[in-house]
Amino acid sequence: MTVRRKFVAGNWKMNGLKGQLGEVSAIAELAAARNDIDVALYLPATLIAAAAPLGGAVLIGAQDCHQEEAGAYTGNLSAAMLAEAGARGTLVGHSERRQYQQESNADVAAKALAAHKGGLSVVLCVGETLDTREQGDDVAHAFVADQLVASLPEGADPQWLTIAYEPVWAIGTGKVATPPQIAAMHAALRAALVKALGAEAGNAMRILYGGSVSGDNAADILHTDNVDGALVGGASLTAAKFGPIIAAA
Ligand code: PEP
Repeated sequence: MTVRRKFVAGNWKMNGLKGQLGEVSAIAELAAARNDIDVALYLPATLIAAAAPLGGAVLIGAQDCHQEEAGAYTGNLSAAMLAEAGARGTLVGHSERRQYQQESNADVAAKALAAHKGGLSVVLCVGETLDTREQGDDVAHAFVADQLVASLPEGADPQWLTIAYEPVWAIGTGKVATPPQIAAMHAALRAALVKALGAEAGNAMRILYGGSVSGDNAADILHTDNVDGALVGGASLTAAKFGPIIAAA
């Protein structure tokens, strides 16, 4: 049986100034007591250099990474820039970037590959809108599995790639997918990974759940079949809120 180590990750989105770095230190202290799980914080790029020395066992990462190594891409950051600042990983394909920056599956795959080549681990996000979910569970499973396969980078490997299933309708809304909904979607994604990558890599790749995870629901979600951890937005901004989720893993 494949044993997948639990992974609890926070996404600070466009939140956090230097005044909040104390929360990074406090989260690092909580994580230091848990050498049986992985913990990461995906911070605004402006905080990475200052947060990296405070992170300890917590992987400090970015929220996006451009697919090119350098060039005329105003406002973007390459994997090498993020790594030099102290990032050890990055998110790619978050639904907010797919929605507001019109990132396609091909863009997401290219970003994941560029991040890996630049030495970063990658959490690749996928998920369906409410509209797709309302067309039925089978439609939602097929949509997200297809999105995942189309977003997989060349050479996708569980050593550096993790998947996060985040139903768009559950992000920042307080609406959480139920454990049976999560288990069914994760089983569909596991099957898609096994088909795309083979049994060994497909079974070893971690699949996180994200969408309004909190200290109140984390234990149920983290003990759902095929859930290998959580990607947490709002509840990762303070040690007081993130601590119970780390404890539940
Ligand atoms: C996210 O942004 O990845 C997320 C899951 O947000 P929230 O936990 O706030 O729903």
